[in-house]
Amino acid sequence: MRFATINGRAALVTDDGYVDLHDASGGDLPSDALAALDRWEDVRTFASSAPPATGAFETSQLGAPVPNPRQVFALAANYRDHAAEAGIDLPEQPYVFTKFPSCIAGPHDDVLLGGHRVDWEVELVVVIGRRCKDVPLDQAWDVVAGLTVGQDISDRKVQFRKPFPHLAVSKSFPTYGPTGPWITTADELPDPAALPLRCSINDELMQDSTTEQLYFDVPALVASISSMVELLPGDLIFTGTPAGVGSTRDPRLYLKPGDVITSEIPGIGIMRNLCVEKG
Ligand code: ZN
Repeated sequence: MRFATINGRAALVTDDGYVDLHDASGGDLPSDALAALDRWEDVRTFASSAPPATGAFETSQLGAPVPNPRQVFALAANYRDHAAEAGIDLPEQPYVFTKFPSCIAGPHDDVLLGGHRVDWEVELVVVIGRRCKDVPLDQAWDVVAGLTVGQDISDRKVQFRKPFPHLAVSKSFPTYGPTGPWITTADELPDPAALPLRCSINDELMQDSTTEQLYFDVPALVASISSMVELLPGDLIFTGTPAGVGSTRDPRLYLKPGDVITSEIPGIGIMRNLCVEKG
């Protein structure tokens, strides 16, 4: 199943278009995406009844699949290849920080550059589908609604301010959290533990890796975070970025107005975000 926000309303994406969740269910299911995630089991049951498509849609109509999550977690130093290129040790425990929900943007929204050292980070994003706490490792996939693509856009100037890393604010400027194009359930993917992920800036391939490079995988992250914090439907976990970010390549590559960030996880989908100068 693929779950999207189309024209600001919860929808299912089908091979021949989309299904408006509220209208097609005769008003039973909500039109708000977060409210639909609160009723994820009902949404899955409804989707399995193969409702007829409402119509076709353009990519410009897609919004963030969870436009207003209650909590957004993110991981630093969670890919072996990225830790190696950055010369940092892999942590003994997942290094969790937060992106504030106000940074969330859609899969084709503009990224408003707030500085001159703004970097890309393509990531696999986990969407939680159930209120949960202390989830055992072997039950972690049960609380996952699905997976989507994300960009953990980062202002490196703010991030590396002394004396402590400023992860939360440097990665939470408005529009610094593009997500989408939709939530794909794990059963749609041949192997949800081995997903290729790529990021290009304009036509240049910058990141080209696989989630097999994750140091703490999806079950480990869900188990670890839920051992400390209660997880809620619609919560997002940005699982970390692989090698190939600008800060380890060349500062001259940092994002400029007019750049197009293309982020792709084959099997899930593609996002294209144009960088513009903040007005
Ligand atoms: Zn990141």
